[in-house]
Amino acid sequence: MFTKILIANRGEIACRIIKTAKKMGILTVAVYSDADKDALHVHMADEAIYLGPSPSRESYLLGDKVLAAAKKTGAQAIHPGYGFLSENSDFCRACSEQNITFIGPPVGAIEAMGSKSAAKNIMEKAQVPLVPGYHGDDQNERVLKKAADDMGYPVLLKATAGGGGKGMRQVWSENEFSDGFAAAKREAMSSFGDDTMLVEKYLTQPRHVEIQVFCDNHNNAVYLFERDCSVQRRHQKVIEEAPAFNMSEALRAQMGESAIKSAQAIGYQGAGTVEFLLDIDGSFYFMEMNTRLQVEHPVTEMISGQDLVEWQLRVAAGEKLPKSQQELTLNGHAFEARIYAEDPNNDFLPATGTLNLLKTPIESSHVRIDTGVRQGDEVSVFYDPMIAKLIVWDESRAKALQRLTKALREYRIDGVTTNIDFLYNVATTQAFQREQIDTGFIEKNQSAIF
Ligand code: ADP
Repeated sequence: MFTKILIANRGEIACRIIKTAKKMGILTVAVYSDADKDALHVHMADEAIYLGPSPSRESYLLGDKVLAAAKKTGAQAIHPGYGFLSENSDFCRACSEQNITFIGPPVGAIEAMGSKSAAKNIMEKAQVPLVPGYHGDDQNERVLKKAADDMGYPVLLKATAGGGGKGMRQVWSENEFSDGFAAAKREAMSSFGDDTMLVEKYLTQPRHVEIQVFCDNHNNAVYLFERDCSVQRRHQKVIEEAPAFNMSEALRAQMGESAIKSAQAIGYQGAGTVEFLLDIDGSFYFMEMNTRLQVEHPVTEMISGQDLVEWQLRVAAGEKLPKSQQELTLNGHAFEARIYAEDPNNDFLPATGTLNLLKTPIESSHVRIDTGVRQGDEVSVFYDPMIAKLIVWDESRAKALQRLTKALREYRIDGVTTNIDFLYNVATTQAFQREQIDTGFIEKNQSAIF
C-alpha cells in the first residue's frame, strides 16, 4: 500500500479522500490556490503545497505543478477526485511517465470514453444496448436527417464531444430538423471546438439509472448496485438515491452485467459509473461511462457498507477487489441532496458570501454530511458553489425520505443564499414520495416546487 498520496482537488471531495487515507494510515498531501489558503482540506492534510492564483486554470488544472508537488513531497500516487484533472488523459499519461500512480483507470479507458460516438461504437461491438440512433462519421446533414426521419420524432441531437448537458437539442418534427441541427452545431463548436453530432431517439419519460462498477487488474469485476439520478435540473443532478425504486432483481442483475461488459470492453480498472436511460417499458440503454469517482458515490456506500475510496486505493496499489459479487449485499435505502450556494428564485445563479452561520444536522449512522467548508468560510466565485452533500440512510425508502426532509429542516445557513428550501420542496412533493419520477420531474412538478 502507498505510504503517502497527493490529492489533486479541493472542497468536500478532497476532505472525503483524506478521511479514508487517514483511516488506512496513509499520509496525505493537499494542494491549494490563493482562495483556499485556509481551506478545510489544507488543514486536514499532513502537508500542503501551494499551486497558484485562485482561478482553476492557474492552479488546480495545472497538471505539471500538481506532478511537481507530488515529486517534491515524495507522494507515490495522485487521487484526482472528480472534475479538474480527473478525466484528463494527458495528465494520466504524464503521471505514469513520472512513475506516479494515477488513482483511476488506464489512459486508454479515459480516451475511449472521451467521445460519445466512439464510446457507442465500442459498446455496440460489446453488445451493450444503445438508444436507437446514428453515430457515424458521415456528418452530412441529409444523412443525420434521414436517420431521424427513419426512426421517427422526437429525436435528440448530441455533440459527440459534449458534457454537462451542453450541445444537446431536442427536435420534435421533420421541419424543425434543419434549424435544430444548425443551433446544436453552433453550441457544440463554441463549447467544445468540435461540432460533430450524433442523433438519438429522444425518450420522453426515461429514468437516469447508473451502475457503480469496480474492476481490479486481476480480471475481477463487480457492480455495487445502482443509483437513480432522475431528478435533474438542466441535466444536472439534484437528489440521488440508491437503490433505484421499483427495480426487480432480474433487471438489477441485467443492468449490472451490462455495466460490467461495458467496463471490460475498454479494459477498465478502478471505480467507474455506467449511465443508462431506463425507459418506462423496462428497456435500458447505455448513455456514457464516467471514468472517475462520482459526486453521488456516498449513497452507494450507505447501502453497500463499503468505502469506495478505500477500494480505489487498494486497486490502484495492485490489490484484488475487497469483495466478490456474491459477497456484496444491498441494505436499506439512501438519499443524497446537493446543497448549493445558489438562488432558486433567480435562475439558480451561483451565490457568494461568508457562511456567517452554518448549523448542520447531527451526524449519526443515519445522517452523513460530506463538506469542505466550516462556519466563517467564504464561498467564492472561483469554484463549484457546492456547500455540502447531505446523505441519509434508513431501512426503507419512506423512512429514509423522512430522515431527508427532517435533516433539511435542521440546516441553518446564514450569509449565503442556498437551495435548501428548493430541495425540501422537491423531497416533499407527492410525486417524489410516490416514486412518480422521470428526468422531466422538476418541470412537471414546478407548481409544487417553486
Ligand atoms: P452529458 O454528457 O452532457 O451529461 P448525457 O448524454 O450524459 O449528456 O445526458 C445527460 C442527460 O440528458 C441524461 O441524464 C438524460 O436526462 C438526458 N438524455 C440524454 N440522452 C437522452 C435521450 N436519448 N432521450 C431522453 N433524454 C436523454
